[in-house]
Amino acid sequence: MKNIGVFICHCGVNIASVVDVEKLTRQLENYPGVKHIENYMFFCSDPGQNTIKKAVHEKKLDGIVMAACSPVLHESTFQTVMEEAGLNKYQLEIANIREQCSWVHSDNKVMATRKAGLIIQTAIEKLKLNESLTPTSAPLNKRVMIIGGGIAGIQTALDIADGGVDVVMIEKKPSIGGHMIQLSETFPTLDCSQCIMTPKMVQLSKHPHITLYVNSEVEAVEGFIGNFKATIKRKPQLVNPDICNMCGDCVDVCPVLVPDEQDEGLNWRRAIYMPFPQAIPATFIIDEEHCLGLAPIACGKCREKCEAEAINYDACEEIWDE
Ligand code: SF4
Ligand code: SF4
Repeated sequence: MKNIGVFICHCGVNIASVVDVEKLTRQLENYPGVKHIENYMFFCSDPGQNTIKKAVHEKKLDGIVMAACSPVLHESTFQTVMEEAGLNKYQLEIANIREQCSWVHSDNKVMATRKAGLIIQTAIEKLKLNESLTPTSAPLNKRVMIIGGGIAGIQTALDIADGGVDVVMIEKKPSIGGHMIQLSETFPTLDCSQCIMTPKMVQLSKHPHITLYVNSEVEAVEGFIGNFKATIKRKPQLVNPDICNMCGDCVDVCPVLVPDEQDEGLNWRRAIYMPFPQAIPATFIIDEEHCLGLAPIACGKCREKCEAEAINYDACEEIWDE
């Protein structure tokens, strides 16, 4: 069993004017595991910090619960106190009885005191299970993958790439643009979404630090923060984007009509089609699900028509690691 110290901070009047710190101190002094408990005006002050260190040494404490303000403010302060007292800094738990209690329950001091007690008990129970940790470091792969080429993904990719970091964008549809490119005017300026989106889409496609894969999905991710490896699967490129000259002749001969998802089914498209006029990448694609050329009885009309020989029904899906 750990020897746990509990330090309840008044934070001036921020906590103590709402939470009855004296009552709490008495209530928790016999709580299982608590070897030492006290309250003080400002534990973040130098005298307050020295009080903690003194108690650690005198009571041979193994870990402490600071019942005080948000860890955003003073977790690092009290972790330093831990280290200066010879303890592992991960044997510290913060019970936030200011932002999460006194500040939001100033109208009910009895309930606020009860809640503060429960917050502290929770921190004590967590501390009992804490293990001492040693910070370590690992090489960081300065390369970012963004999954999804909607407006959020596009802007994020541009911001990161502008900072000089390489970005890989994975988009499952044939073009980036997401839902926003389907919209008309957008709030609050009533700009058309294409007017907002297309400059960003073009910028992304030409950015030297961005690699874009459409018709692609992440199959698997392994690794850890800073060192992930992702397995990417891309649908067969039945129309070779490097050869297709965008003449559109193939569309005229395709006998298949399909509701156009870009227009939410209010319009029609062919089985070979350009997703929409401003699509990025700007290339024709074949809808495998509806194309007759890929069925047992081949149609083949688009391939016959394509003088550039950009169509290959035998193209395979590709899988690789990033
Ligand atoms: S006919 Fe060939 S080159 Fe022309 S748009 Fe179709 S696939 Fe591309
Ligand atoms: S092969 Fe498919 S995409 Fe080409 S014309 Fe026939 S149905 Fe249309």
